[in-house]
Amino acid sequence: MGKCKYCGGSTGFFNNKEICKTCKNKFLLNAQLSSDNINRLTNDINKGFKEIDSYLSRLKIILEQYRTLNNAQEALPDLIKTNLNYQEMKANTEKFLLEFNENKISLIMAMKTEKGKARNIYKYLDSIDEAIQEYGEFKDILMKIKCHLTNIIQQYNFVRPNDQNKLKINLDSNRKLDDIEERFIEELSSQIKKHIKKNVELTIEVRRKYLLNFKLNGYQIGRIELISSHPQMQIIKKDTVEWINDITLQSAIDLIPEWIAYAKKIV
Ligand SMILES: [Zn+2]
Repeated sequence: MGKCKYCGGSTGFFNNKEICKTCKNKFLLNAQLSSDNINRLTNDINKGFKEIDSYLSRLKIILEQYRTLNNAQEALPDLIKTNLNYQEMKANTEKFLLEFNENKISLIMAMKTEKGKARNIYKYLDSIDEAIQEYGEFKDILMKIKCHLTNIIQQYNFVRPNDQNKLKINLDSNRKLDDIEERFIEELSSQIKKHIKKNVELTIEVRRKYLLNFKLNGYQIGRIELISSHPQMQIIKKDTVEWINDITLQSAIDLIPEWIAYAKKIV
């Protein structure tokens, strides 16, 4: 009789002097579940993926499962055998990520056009930046990969393409727009491109003499009358439609984020 070194209990259900039956069963079950998860995810990984995130999300779980497995093994060294410990598995994982990186870069550099290479290397770099934020346990190796990519970009002078999200603008009127209207539209367009990360179509309809109606992918996002004697701007929210009077170009530009917030919800 004694106390279990894991739970501190002394229930009498000891089958050896250090660990109670409840803890033993818990470790055995954990080891079984972890092994199953590791096998399932390893099979998954062996099928192959295009993007690094698909690997990282699985490798992260595999590493966590190795930790659980190692803990169980430490508790029951005679019953649970593992081929690798956590640190060895982490080293393997890093080697695997470096190999993925080499392959990915070879594929990109084998592309036919410089434009294709540039687009894909920046896309890959962006995915590495996101991964650095998301996967702290792989940060060191991801920083190494990022450094490698940055060197290649400098060496080959790859320029980041700016056509990642396109904005098509249709002006549905014969009236020539005033300079003030043009400046408002310019600012609106740049904010749409910045905040709405997909290809969208902005249609500008002239209603009455000075009232402009804006639609994004066919959905109205707001109206504005900038150059009339009663300048006003419409702000649409989820449940309300509001008109702001005596609007100036600057106050209209300051209100563009309200349009963007609504546009984000509908496109
Ligand atoms: Zn116990």
